Amino acid sequence: MRLSRYFLPVLKETPAEAQIVSHRLMLRAGMIRQASAGIYSWLPLGFKVLRMLENIVHEEQQRAGHIPMLMPTLQSADLWRESGRYDDYGKEMLRITDRHGRDMLYGPTNEELITDIFRNSVGSYKELPKTLYHIQWKFRDEVRPRFGVMRGREFFMKDGYNFDIDKESALHAYNRHLVSYLRTYERMGLQAIPMRADTGPIGGDHSHEFLVLAKTGESEVFYDSAVTDLSLGDRNVDYDSVEQCQAIFDEFTTPYARTDETHDEALFNQVPEARRKSARGIEVGQIFYFGTKYSDAMGATVNGPDGKPVPVHMGSHGIGVSRLIGALIEANHDDNGIIWPEAVAPFKVGVVNLKQGGGDTDAACEQLYQGLSARGLDPLYDDRNERAGAKFATMDLIGCPWRITVGPRGLKNGVVELTSRRSGESEEMSIEAAIDRCGQIYAGKEAIFV
Ligand code: ATP
Ligand code: MG
Repeated sequence: MRLSRYFLPVLKETPAEAQIVSHRLMLRAGMIRQASAGIYSWLPLGFKVLRMLENIVHEEQQRAGHIPMLMPTLQSADLWRESGRYDDYGKEMLRITDRHGRDMLYGPTNEELITDIFRNSVGSYKELPKTLYHIQWKFRDEVRPRFGVMRGREFFMKDGYNFDIDKESALHAYNRHLVSYLRTYERMGLQAIPMRADTGPIGGDHSHEFLVLAKTGESEVFYDSAVTDLSLGDRNVDYDSVEQCQAIFDEFTTPYARTDETHDEALFNQVPEARRKSARGIEVGQIFYFGTKYSDAMGATVNGPDGKPVPVHMGSHGIGVSRLIGALIEANHDDNGIIWPEAVAPFKVGVVNLKQGGGDTDAACEQLYQGLSARGLDPLYDDRNERAGAKFATMDLIGCPWRITVGPRGLKNGVVELTSRRSGESEEMSIEAAIDRCGQIYAGKEAIFV
């Protein structure tokens, strides 16, 4: 992309309404604009990152064997009356009446709708297990929308639902989701720790929230620091293997890690003191096994092996896709702006021309632009007639992980400068070498370009 042709309305001033750094930087970097409280337009740069995260979520869900689909944002109130949640949900639910006087709502989640689809389509245990998911906008009329996309009213969420014949099979689905979520966050360059979470009125101990540690997080968390040393890495996961998913579940959930709702002081005190930590965290996902709550209420049964109808065991599993962008920025920034992890950087390499309109520098930038594009690296070429300082500031603000600077002085010696956004270190090299180096940096990173 040539910056002169792009739409990147960066702000010089720090917006007064933004209380936390990710909100400030998303506004300043021209990623989002508020449309009304807790509702945002996604400008091209923000939309690009959102699509990248969405793609990673899709890939990892499908790797785990889960099936993508799409349900609407508007739902009929009738289904929610069946489950009893139409009244329970309270003011967070945005209720709408259509022209025929029918009660509708903007979906805050989809358990009812998916259960309805399931009960009308699946009749036999032989068709189980199944996990269906979608990535769709949700609306919750939060009392206090704040922190930009972190607590919006309209937000983008992946929600998946498993249907299993019994508890044992549903718990495998639960573990499979835990593993696929670990992979998803790691691929984004983010550490999200599974923590035991509150199961509410349904009870039981099968819910985990995934938390990114950050000072601005809204949750209070307590954990054994040993849990922060764990990573899935590039191990090959067989999602059909009950044993392997269980082993990974055990590995990641054995060290103490809980949110304040489930925190148990006595148990926590058994962790060696040096490893006992309390901190703030951002909830970026949650998994939940709830048994037959919805299938009982809504009559979602399948015929079992003996021909008798049995209610299906279900769970639901969510990832806050739009909130993740805030979490990523909270975890990756400095005073000058965002520092994207390479996998989710909207542009992988920035090219800065120090002398726009200078024949040699223009030609060199063009060569870089073509060479990087040919390698699929989606460069952002700042070809505006701006001062060097303004160009550097923009690249730093929007967080390009790598920058190639092209100036007349360097070109005389046949070199350009490659700079890492994260370390700030620069190295001079030829144009060809710079293209090669960037190609190597991103090789095998399964970068997704949108
Ligand atoms: P919270 O406790 O933060 O209100 P929740 O537990 O009600 O969230 P879930 O129903 O578990 O939310 O939804 C799944 C995921 O969707 C959450 O883990 C979170 O990442 C995201 N999410 C929920 N509410 C919002 C919101 N208002 N704005 C942005 N993302 C949200
Ligand atoms: Mg939650």
